[in-house]
Amino acid sequence: MISFEQALSKILYLADKIDFEEVKLEESYSRVLAHDAISSRDQPPFDASAMDGYALNKIDKLPSKKLSVIGKVAAGNSFDGTVGKGQAVRVFTGAPMPKGTNSVLIQEDAEELENFITINQIVEKKDFVRKKGCDYKSGEILLQKGKILTSFDIALLASMNFPLLKVMKQPRVSIISTGDELVFPGNLPDSNQIVASNTYGLKALLTKWGATSHILPIARDNISSLEKAIDLAIPADLVITIGGASVGDHDYVNKVFNKINVKHSFYKVAMRPGKPILAGKNNNTIFVGLPGNPVSALVCAQLLLKPLIGKMLGTSELNNIEKKASLQNDLPKNGGRKHFMRAFFNNGYLEVSQKQDSSLLNVLQKANALVIRKPNEPPAKKGDLISYLDLD
Ligand code: AMP
Ligand code: MG
Repeated sequence: MISFEQALSKILYLADKIDFEEVKLEESYSRVLAHDAISSRDQPPFDASAMDGYALNKIDKLPSKKLSVIGKVAAGNSFDGTVGKGQAVRVFTGAPMPKGTNSVLIQEDAEELENFITINQIVEKKDFVRKKGCDYKSGEILLQKGKILTSFDIALLASMNFPLLKVMKQPRVSIISTGDELVFPGNLPDSNQIVASNTYGLKALLTKWGATSHILPIARDNISSLEKAIDLAIPADLVITIGGASVGDHDYVNKVFNKINVKHSFYKVAMRPGKPILAGKNNNTIFVGLPGNPVSALVCAQLLLKPLIGKMLGTSELNNIEKKASLQNDLPKNGGRKHFMRAFFNNGYLEVSQKQDSSLLNVLQKANALVIRKPNEPPAKKGDLISYLDLD
């Protein structure tokens, strides 16, 4: 049995970075940027008025001063002449500042009569000019390769004039549930059957992490059924089986992985929940056998598959980040395996769930954190600072 840290580094070692593809900007949400995004232009590209008002030279911005208005310019247009002393140009938000001006008098601060304005007694001192390049300059790296694109990233990329983007291809994942006892939701289970659940949670997690996945028909607990399902799974970058990974008489995953020549990376990890978890590779496909218990499958997915997908996508944003917070209840000495305990983080405090059985999906659904306990860690007390991960 290997440690959790060894398992993580071994599973990451299996991953090759996937190729990139070009997509339309509007289809790039949540995709991983495959190149640095460098601006080719200053933003704004010219000094621009930030308000509706009058562009003038700031030495003329004096209470009661009367100025002649020699033109008008709105966004998208320009004023061709030069503005001299005692003169102003009517401007609107986004208009380029006319030559000779460096300040905007907001329209509320003046009375206009025919082609003249008289400045009010009380005047806003601010210039209300957006300087050329005040948002960003030409040649700046604004987004880095590996960034998972948010809506604000996409707005920024649009302003940089990218109609298309190179993004990482989405890893293709096949999910195989195993077990004679399983039916898919929507079917009528007989009295000794249960409904497959973690299969669907796993698919949702994979979607969230940027992979595409499909759920294959349930493999029954025999070698040929699992082999058939795996045949359907290829081509995939990653094949995940759920259940059947232990050493019971009805656990076939390891046997089938061996039979189809999956080169084993590891089998059994000193972690809770989890232990029976295996990983390996055959040609370019990574095979991972997750434990069947709902909590084990989903927690192991977050701990090992999320960073794996991240490595395939060339992003570090899917690495699990350890944080610390104050414990709200006492914990006993930990056993020999690294324990990831379901907990609820609220307002700086972590409350560890009383029930930690790895079949309890209802407990997992109410948790939002995993408290981390090292192998053989001594008891922890209420108020101790303790490491945890956000639960996805
Ligand atoms: P196994 O690892 O196959 O021994 O399964 C461990 C436990 O998880 C058993 O109680 C299974 O019925 C249950 N289980 C296995 N696969 C799933 C699944 N896809 N959804 C929900 N429970 C499952
Ligand atoms: Mg089973």
